[in-house]
Amino acid sequence: MGPLVLDHVPTSLLDLLNNTLILRQTAPHLPISSLCALAKTSRALRQIIRQSPQAFRYLDLSPVKSAICPIEEPLDTGGNNWRRERMDESLTEDDFYSGPLRSIFSRLHQQHVLHNVHTLVLDGLSVTAEFVKELMTEERYNVRLLSIREVKHLNQRKLQQYLRYAVRPSRPAGTPRVKGIYLFGPREAAPLVTSPSKRTASPASLGVMSSPGAQIGAEWNQKSTDALNAALARTEDRWYRSSGRMMTKRPSSDWAEILQACEGIIAFDAVLCRGPRHDPAKAYIRDGSDSSMPHPASFLRPAIATVALGPLGCESCHSCPEEPAIFGESPWTQFPLLSPVPLHWCSTRAAQRPHTLDGLCPPPLYVRCEDCLKGRWCERCHKWWDENCYGGSSTAQRTELQQTELLETLDTSGSTQLIPKQTIKIVGVRRDCFGCGHTCISCKELFIRQCKNCGNEYCREDNDASSDTMCDWCNYTSRRTVEMY
Ligand SMILES: [Zn+2]
Ligand SMILES: [Zn+2]
Ligand SMILES: [Zn+2]
Ligand SMILES: [Zn+2]
Ligand SMILES: [Zn+2]
Repeated sequence: MGPLVLDHVPTSLLDLLNNTLILRQTAPHLPISSLCALAKTSRALRQIIRQSPQAFRYLDLSPVKSAICPIEEPLDTGGNNWRRERMDESLTEDDFYSGPLRSIFSRLHQQHVLHNVHTLVLDGLSVTAEFVKELMTEERYNVRLLSIREVKHLNQRKLQQYLRYAVRPSRPAGTPRVKGIYLFGPREAAPLVTSPSKRTASPASLGVMSSPGAQIGAEWNQKSTDALNAALARTEDRWYRSSGRMMTKRPSSDWAEILQACEGIIAFDAVLCRGPRHDPAKAYIRDGSDSSMPHPASFLRPAIATVALGPLGCESCHSCPEEPAIFGESPWTQFPLLSPVPLHWCSTRAAQRPHTLDGLCPPPLYVRCEDCLKGRWCERCHKWWDENCYGGSSTAQRTELQQTELLETLDTSGSTQLIPKQTIKIVGVRRDCFGCGHTCISCKELFIRQCKNCGNEYCREDNDASSDTMCDWCNYTSRRTVEMY
C-alpha cells in the first residue's frame, strides 16, 4: 500500500491554508515533518506549502533526527570507518560534521523554499563555523534570525573571525543578511519539561527536604517567588527580572570584542556590560586620598553582561551610574534578543521587545558583568549596590554604612516635609557558605546559624545533616552518642 493520498482535501482546509495570514500564524507551530507530510497529501496542498513564502518562514530543525550528526566522537576515532565507507579522502572535518545539515538545505534549495527561511533554529545540532559563514554570505540563504545555542562542533575562534569579517566596514551593501544570532543563552527547554528554577532566598525553603510535604511546600514557595518576581518586573522575560546568572558558561572576553564590532549590525542574545569601569573616561578617576594605590574603579576590558539584576536598580538609590536601558529611549544595542525565538516575526526589534503582563511600557533593564558586581551583588536574593552607594573593597565583605534617608513628615500647617534621618545599614556581600555564594546580611540571617554546641557557623540549607540548633558535625556526633547508650 502506498502513502495515503487525498484527492479531495476538504476545501475548508485548503481555503484556510490559502489564507496568507492563517498560514503565517499556523506554519511555525507545525514541526517540519508534519509540514512535509501535509505537502505529500495532495497536489493543491503541496503547491501552497512549497510556493507560499509563509510556510517555511520559521524553520526549527532542532527536533529533526536526520539533522543530527550520526557520530559524536572526533574524526580520528569513529570517523575513520565512516570515511573508509565513503572512500573519500578529500572529506574535511567540516564536511563531516555539517554533512547532515548541508543535505537538508540542498533539498530545501532544490524545492525552492530555502530562500523563504527567515528564522532558522539549529539549537543543539552539529553546526560548524564554516556552515554559519555560508548562512551569512551565500546568496541562496535569506536567514535574518539564527539560533545556534548549545550546538556541537562549533569552533568559536573561527566563528569570531567570520563575524568580524562579515561586519567589516568595506562589506557589500545589504550584508550581512543575518541580523540577529542566539548563541549565549540556554536553548529553550522542550515543552512539558519544566526546568528547575534557580533557588531564591525564602524562609520556607529552609526545611528539611526529605518529606514529600516539604518538597511540595518548597515547590509552591518557588512558584510564588517566581510569580512575585514576574509581578515586580511585570514581565516573564528573564532578562528583565532579577534572574541572576543568565548563562551557564561565562563567555570569553574575545566575545565581548566581537559584540562591540557587531554593534548596530548584528544583535545577540546578550549585550555588553555598561558598568562605569568599562568606560576609560570614568574608570581612572582617582579619589585623591592616595593616588599611588590602585583605585577600586580601575579600567575593565569590555565584558558581556551575564547577570540580570531586576527592575529595581541599586538597593539604596534605585538607579546606577550607567543608567538602565529604557525601552523606547535607549539605543537598540542595549537590549538583548529574548528567548524564545519569535515564531511569527523575523526582525531583531521584535525579538528584543519584552512582553509585559499589563501591556504597558517594559521595565528598566539592569544588567552587568560579574566583575562589575564583585562584592556588591547578593547571589541569593539578587539585591545589589552601585558604585555611588557602596565603594566596595578588594575582598568581598559587608560594611556598615551610615545612610541618610528622607522621611516624610507633616508639619504644623499640615503640608508634607522631607526630614533627613541617619540610619546605619549593612551593605555589600560576603561568602559565608560555599553553596550560598556571596550573600547580603538578610540572606545570611536567613540561612547561616551558629551551632549551640561548638559555636561555629553553619548553613541550614547546604549542610544536610545539620539541625535547627546544631551544625552537621555536632548533630551527627550527638545522635551517634544517643544511639550508643
Ligand atoms: Zn545606588
Ligand atoms: Zn562590567
Ligand atoms: Zn540577599
Ligand atoms: Zn549555604
Ligand atoms: Zn557544632
